[in-house]
Amino acid sequence: MEMENKRIIIVGGGLAGTFLAANLVQKGASVIQYADPQKIPASSVAAGLVNPVTGRQFAISWKAIEFLTALESFFQLPGFESLAAHYHSLPIYRPFPDIRSCNDWTARSHDSRFDDIATCTYEAWKPEWLINPLGGMIIHRGGWLNVNSFINATRGLLQKTGRFKFIAEKINYSEIDPQLSNLQRLEGNIEFSQLVFCEGIYGTLNPWFPAKLVPLKGQLITFRTRPNLNRIISSGQFMVPLGEDLYRLGSTYELNYYTEAPNTEPPQELVQGLSSFWLPKVTEWVKLEAGIRPTTLDRKPIIGQHPEWPTLWIFNGLGTKGVLQAPALATQLANAILNQSPGEILRDCNPNRIALHKP
Ligand SMILES: Cc1cc2nc3c(=O)[nH]c(=O)nc-3n(C[C@H](O)[C@H](O)[C@H](O)COP(=O)(O)OP(=O)(O)OC[C@H]3O[C@@H](n4cnc5c(N)ncnc54)[C@H](O)[C@@H]3O)c2cc1C
Repeated sequence: MEMENKRIIIVGGGLAGTFLAANLVQKGASVIQYADPQKIPASSVAAGLVNPVTGRQFAISWKAIEFLTALESFFQLPGFESLAAHYHSLPIYRPFPDIRSCNDWTARSHDSRFDDIATCTYEAWKPEWLINPLGGMIIHRGGWLNVNSFINATRGLLQKTGRFKFIAEKINYSEIDPQLSNLQRLEGNIEFSQLVFCEGIYGTLNPWFPAKLVPLKGQLITFRTRPNLNRIISSGQFMVPLGEDLYRLGSTYELNYYTEAPNTEPPQELVQGLSSFWLPKVTEWVKLEAGIRPTTLDRKPIIGQHPEWPTLWIFNGLGTKGVLQAPALATQLANAILNQSPGEILRDCNPNRIALHKP
């Protein structure tokens, strides 16, 4: 692997750009990362939830165990151990909504793939606070990442290596010359060996990767209530304990929206969802936030090299599962870039796949 003289430019400072930068620098490459401060990254509002078991069908999501293992391994990489403080490993509790789900989920949990992942319990847990008369499912390998503090801490660690520079500025497409591998900035030309677009939803107009992204707005609320729980609750909505009586409640999934901004009042969908399982009083609605998730039609990320301009790459489409998916995929992409071997990236993520082009 030739690592000398590889100045790699990353456009984007969210989860995709950050995990990629960490992998590249850890492997010896030099990275300059740009992030436009005028844009609100989805990562800056994400609840950071990691749940390998999702959906009404209670299924293990795509590659979830492989991805979860990569996330856990990331925090064991030499030099990155301190970043584990930003990941809170917590069980996720899913109350059974009805008898039928109780039977279905119980049958599923006997599948060997659920060993060490989830167990069922048939007694109400904390019934004085939580409506769960039939018991529920405990997902043991769940947790949440404090995304903002993680990203800031990662940048700090990378800067100390002397091979990483973070610049809070916008890159205009007209500044990029893939033929000369040049970035034409006002302060002078910057030569790059590779350039990776990690732009999230803002990559929709990218001329080299006309990304087939589906913008999906999400809103979530930070609120105050008592008592403190030591489990994440997932009951239509999720409720993540942040400590000190603070919780995050989310999220909405809005395909049609008129503004990227959050509502002025907490969305009814969230408030009613909470009251369907949580009995204690909300003492304060602290903060309402919104962001746009970069999703795709087939719910798989978009990762790969440009077919004609081999110095250009994309890492996008992390959708609703950025925290779970980014670590494993960033490792694959970093290896592919450094070895010039795009075949190392999961074929499901190929930017040219047909599934992305369906109407
Ligand atoms: C309300 C909500 C809740 C969510 N909850 C969860 C959750 O619980 N768990 C989970 O895993 N995921 C969650 N997500 C999804 C998660 O946020 C995304 O999967 C992830 O953040 C996408 O990361 P990204 O780096 O691809 O994009 P972003 O985080 O959007 O980052 C894009 C970056 O590109 C930069 N950029 C774009 N264009 C340019 C340019 N021309 N020049 C310079 N910089 C540029 C932006 O400034 C930004 O830094 C949630 C999302 C929302 C909105």
